Amino acid sequence: MSAPQSVSRSSKLGPEERAAAIEALKTRELDILVVGGGIVGTGSALDAVTRGLSVGMVEARDWASGTSSRSSKLVHGGIRYLEQLDFRLVREALTERGLLLQRIAPHLVKPVRFLYPLTKPIYERFYVGAGMLLYDIFSYTGGRPPGVPHHRHLTKRQMLKAAPSLDKDAFVGGLTYYDAQVDDARYVATLARTASFYGAHVASRVRVEGFIKVGQRVVGVTAHDLETGERFEIKARQVVNATGVWTDDTQSMVGERGGFKVRASKGVHLVVPRDRFQSKIGLLLRTEKSVLFVIPWGRHWLIGTTDTDWHLDKAHPAATAADIDYILEHVNKVLAVKLTRDDVEGVYAGLRPLLAGESEQTSKLSREHIVAHSVPGLVVVAGGKWTTYRIMAKDAIDAAASALDGRVPPSTTQDIALLGAEGYQAAWNKRSKIAHVFGVHKVRIEHLLNRYGVLTDELLDLIRERPELLEPLPGADDYIGAEVVYAASHEGALHLEDVLARRTRISIEAWDRGVSAAPVAAALMGAELGWDQARIDNEVANYLKRVSAEIESQQQPDDESADRVRLEAPDIVSTKWGGARRRLRLPAGVPAVGAAAAVVSAPGCRTCDRPAPIGRPPWPASRPPPPARHPPHPRERGRVDWRDCPKPLKEFSHGRRSAGQTPRCWCSPHIRHG
Ligand SMILES: Cc1cc2nc3c(=O)[nH]c(=O)nc-3n(C[C@H](O)[C@H](O)[C@H](O)COP(=O)(O)OP(=O)(O)OC[C@H]3O[C@@H](n4cnc5c(N)ncnc54)[C@H](O)[C@@H]3O)c2cc1C
Repeated sequence: MSAPQSVSRSSKLGPEERAAAIEALKTRELDILVVGGGIVGTGSALDAVTRGLSVGMVEARDWASGTSSRSSKLVHGGIRYLEQLDFRLVREALTERGLLLQRIAPHLVKPVRFLYPLTKPIYERFYVGAGMLLYDIFSYTGGRPPGVPHHRHLTKRQMLKAAPSLDKDAFVGGLTYYDAQVDDARYVATLARTASFYGAHVASRVRVEGFIKVGQRVVGVTAHDLETGERFEIKARQVVNATGVWTDDTQSMVGERGGFKVRASKGVHLVVPRDRFQSKIGLLLRTEKSVLFVIPWGRHWLIGTTDTDWHLDKAHPAATAADIDYILEHVNKVLAVKLTRDDVEGVYAGLRPLLAGESEQTSKLSREHIVAHSVPGLVVVAGGKWTTYRIMAKDAIDAAASALDGRVPPSTTQDIALLGAEGYQAAWNKRSKIAHVFGVHKVRIEHLLNRYGVLTDELLDLIRERPELLEPLPGADDYIGAEVVYAASHEGALHLEDVLARRTRISIEAWDRGVSAAPVAAALMGAELGWDQARIDNEVANYLKRVSAEIESQQQPDDESADRVRLEAPDIVSTKWGGARRRLRLPAGVPAVGAAAAVVSAPGCRTCDRPAPIGRPPWPASRPPPPARHPPHPRERGRVDWRDCPKPLKEFSHGRRSAGQTPRCWCSPHIRHG
């Protein structure tokens, strides 16, 4: 094992850093290898590397591409667990909430206020009030102030003032309390970068396909670099399995489950525009099974979630029409003006990794976590929740460290701020001045500071060099070109989907789910990562296929049909190493990249200019064009938004204009105009 040459590294996590990490993974024996780049895996990598251990981490797809980008995005104690008398869990989570808000990531984790409306006047107010008081008291037990205000009682009048869109006959009053929220995927990417900064060798799109054993002892893994196709071995003294809902699959590679099972429970969220109903605060509503959150999310609301067993594809859990209707039905019970499907901008589904066997009803299963040394050399960590990732990581690395020779220092992550956090408050106080210098609205700088912290400077440097990167992306006004470039150069984004779905949240926030932003973002990424035109087209085509499959799956009645439809758009396969050859079933000798280009430039849909879908054989000129298989045109879907279209309103009569917005038409840019 070679000794580290410095205390920390560049904070950049780009293609060169990935290549260097893979080289190190191939050639060194590590103290710890973490498998899985969700919140628990990245947290474990940071925990281990900041104890002075040599650490590697591999993730099969993109950082947080599993459950960790699909949560309710709350950093919370879990007020409903009080009812289950799970006081230890609530206290632990509230301590973590305070730490994340005030020390570890104040730029990413923000307070959020909720209203709990009451249906019964006295008993319920007393019962819920007592719970919230306990919640507030627990939030002090970590030895630091909670970082959020206390709960408050509201009269019916005060409640309706705070949330005028509530059905006034449905409630008698309410209480408000605070929790915190986070862009879950962005946090994980920042955590991976922070681990890399402290010296961990981290690589996404490297899948573990087996374990290397000497006798009964695990001494490493066999890995597959999905970008180059190369297979190699990684040697490690301890391997940590942090693969969430894939835990059982990963454990089965070693033939030992670890004494427990992880089952998947699907949770779906809807994204609707903030103006669809008026409220200054989020809502916590009781349902017959559990609770429903209505969470403020920038210019949107997140509404969820469902809780149903899931036994199908884990990589792409699909929301069904029934899931969407369930959520709408429940939220509409309390709204004066009802939401319809036309109000839904985005939908996403995630899988809770629940420890099986504790109760029949998945919603009652505890959010406890388990750490087990299932075989010598292999630690498995599973269950838990996003908020308590740091504790899970600490417990996992404690278990791994206890099996290493020599004394390993205790966890230090309670004192390790994520990249971008140190100096955030000072930067925040300067935001108006920065906005003035760049000639932009303060909100633009606030958006950057709340996503990058003090690393915003790196984006501003980019903008200084290339002022055009200050332009917003088409159909996704909140995000600017510089964020796409930075995601590719500094944040480990390797594919267009990584940027549109996780470094930004365009895939769930934009009406067209990123269809109009895709070509622009792909071109920006391409310039950064050295893609040729064929690769750019391939990335766009793949993304459009994903959007199409998701929209279609959300019209299916049940999980089976939604899963089948969603799987029509599999993960992208890099054309560099012949993935296109395999997916397109190309004859030997035909260059894969060229063939992919031939496919994407083949004749396309009859209605619009979009190309034939990739994944089909090149289309001979003699045959009629292939059928349209990209997302249904917004006009056909009956969900159109004028903001997505570059054509001016005056050419059309069906636009709607709000104050301060440029008038545009209702058509998608992909529909031929005239
Ligand atoms: C709908 C929903 C809402 C939720 N809301 C909240 C909330 O508001 N607050 C909260 O605290 N918690 C919440 N949770 C729980 C929380 O999101 C999860 O507990 C957490 O994200 C799990 O993280 P993980 O790292 O264990 O799993 P994952 O994020 O799934 O990470 C596992 C990773 O392992 C990778 N992997 C799998 N196999 C391999 C392999 N062979 N080689 C390499 N990599 C592999 C996967 O690609 C994946 O990225 C929610 C969960 C759901 C589903």
